[in-house]
Amino acid sequence: MALTGIEILKMLPKKNCGECNVPTCLAFAMKVAAGQDDIGKCPYLSDEIKEKVSEASAPPIRTITFGSGDATFRFGGETCLFRHERRFENPTGFALLVSPNMDTAEIESRLSRFNTLQYERVGVTLKADLIAVEDAGNRASFLDLVKGVRKDAPSAPLILMSKDPDTLGQGAELLGDHKPLLYAAEEENYDAMLDVAKASGCPLTVKGNTIGEAAELSERLQKAGFKDIVIDTGARTPRACLEDQVVMRRAAINHKYKPLGCPSITFPCEMTDDPLVEAMITSMLVCKYAGITVLSDLRGDILFPLLVERLNIFTDPQRPMVVQEDIYPINGPDENSPVLITCNFSLTYFIVSGEIEGSKVPSWLLIKDTEGLSVLTAWAAGKFSADLIGAFVKKSGIEEKVKHRNLIIPGYLAGMKGELEDELPDWTIQVGPREATHLSVFLKEWNA
Ligand code: SF4
Repeated sequence: MALTGIEILKMLPKKNCGECNVPTCLAFAMKVAAGQDDIGKCPYLSDEIKEKVSEASAPPIRTITFGSGDATFRFGGETCLFRHERRFENPTGFALLVSPNMDTAEIESRLSRFNTLQYERVGVTLKADLIAVEDAGNRASFLDLVKGVRKDAPSAPLILMSKDPDTLGQGAELLGDHKPLLYAAEEENYDAMLDVAKASGCPLTVKGNTIGEAAELSERLQKAGFKDIVIDTGARTPRACLEDQVVMRRAAINHKYKPLGCPSITFPCEMTDDPLVEAMITSMLVCKYAGITVLSDLRGDILFPLLVERLNIFTDPQRPMVVQEDIYPINGPDENSPVLITCNFSLTYFIVSGEIEGSKVPSWLLIKDTEGLSVLTAWAAGKFSADLIGAFVKKSGIEEKVKHRNLIIPGYLAGMKGELEDELPDWTIQVGPREATHLSVFLKEWNA
């Protein structure tokens, strides 16, 4: 049972010293209870209390991390069934499959796609996360491939897949501190796989033929003191896989059933030969509730929508998506180009910047931080007022980039024109169109 903030507070020394980077013990206790801080940050607690609180406040689905440095992958740690209840914590990982059975050119082109298929959106780089290296039965060629993938795709945390514990052990040894996820302990190799996982310090997948078998294996590992467990329920049809994912999540969240309180790995690559159907299955598993999906290949037209879907599912629904306050050059502007301003709600930014880009008119777009509120809401909340816009324009550095002093404001803020002219006496304020779709015509007719 999770501890409340007050219960945690009773165990704290109540020095209110702030050494945990939170001003008071009460605030720290509340953050720990909400899963937003780590009890270990208070230096005055005994190991016994730390363990008690950590255990009680741990999410019902264990968080697992593997890889190293910048190439680290974190998944699990989920606390709810539906994202609107709180938020989903760690995005589903997309893994690319490679195997020694593929010819060298094919492996090279897959690794090249893994490295290059990256997209910028809302200030975030979207890309596939992992590479799964599959053993085709020849240990030497598997180990060579592991070495090659590590060298040619250094940003990828790896999943090593083999039925042979010794092969997995040697693969993990080869990777040193770059800890892979080991796949998989089954009924017949369970003890040897556990030894390899313990010796290498890597997380281990258990694979059952059914969700029941997987839960049994997971329970045995937990009783043996091993906790970093990932579950493959063995389902290889979309329906069975979806049912298993839902059962796992409900068992962990609603019933605190520890054997299934582990993140999952799924294999859309084994459920169909059709890349579009594979994409649809993956899309479903992003929503419910895969920790990792292994894909047969990466294609830009398929990967991009999956990445955008994942971005949306795993954003915090209680916090609007924002872009950074800054000056954004669009279409290669110069000192004579128009200057527009709008808010930092990401949807507004993408619509406005898209319309400017489409107009082909070189322009400067000023984005003012409005805490993610849209133009009118921000204005009503006092976060996009004339004094704040004036101060932002002065400090933004735009005056060094343009010779003219004309600022185009959103059409909905026409009423602010006079106030803004008082705040920016050197500038002429021009009222832009109300709708972004009219920006193209407006900019083409614009004269500084
Ligand atoms: Fe309280 Fe410990 Fe934080 Fe100090 S470090 S404020 S004692 S919780």
